[in-house]
Amino acid sequence: MEAIKHQDPKRKKATARSKLIESGVWKDHSDQSVEIAPYELPMKVNDKVYNFQVSPWIFNQGSDEEDMYFVASYGSHNFKNNAPLVRLQSLCPHGHYFHSSHCDCDEQRDLAMEMIVNDSIGGFLVMAVGERHAGRGIGHSMIAGLYSYGFKTGRDVVTESFNDLGFHQDERDFSASMAVLQKMGVSNIRLMTNNPDKASQIDSSNSINIDEVVPLIGQVTPESLKERVLLARSGHNYDQHELDQAVQQVVDQQGHHPLERW
Ligand SMILES: [Zn+2]
Repeated sequence: MEAIKHQDPKRKKATARSKLIESGVWKDHSDQSVEIAPYELPMKVNDKVYNFQVSPWIFNQGSDEEDMYFVASYGSHNFKNNAPLVRLQSLCPHGHYFHSSHCDCDEQRDLAMEMIVNDSIGGFLVMAVGERHAGRGIGHSMIAGLYSYGFKTGRDVVTESFNDLGFHQDERDFSASMAVLQKMGVSNIRLMTNNPDKASQIDSSNSINIDEVVPLIGQVTPESLKERVLLARSGHNYDQHELDQAVQQVVDQQGHHPLERW
């Protein structure tokens, strides 16, 4: 075993890949995408377990542009004729690794899964896990630096810190997510999002039709309130009345506006 452990990791991966191709579960397509055959995975949704099907896809494999997706689906297998619910979720290091309540990414993923398993048709949770999606598209190291910068300077981490560091507040490009859905035979979707930019990127691509935009509004918490207020200001669809009430509650109980604190 020691001998194998010390072999060149690149060589080991190449050998494994050949074995996976041989066994028929790894398919290299001519457009540089890789399709890994689906498998079943039990997932906990509201303390009940549901068997999702996981289909992994990789784009531009081995290059700086590599982009990986875990597509979890549940429900009808006739998604060609019935528009599935679709959540395009980008990896959020804080929300998804640490269940941070500073943002609502973790909660939105859980809510999307809950809606998918309770829907008569079902749908897809497309988890974009690569650097090109992490931290609203700026990657792990930059989102870590950006949060640290925001914490030190008091600049918010939704718009101000992105601007200060020379980034657009959302650097993500959803074209590959749509390509994944197309490859899986989906043409019409019910998109779960509060982000109008996501919906308009998909709309203008003309590759996937949005039959309906379904909002994902979770519970407002004091910790995630600041981010929600800032996202609402930049056009995300939250219930403004509910936000105003939550802000007033924080002002009454803690004596400061949520935007004044980290
Ligand atoms: Zn997040």
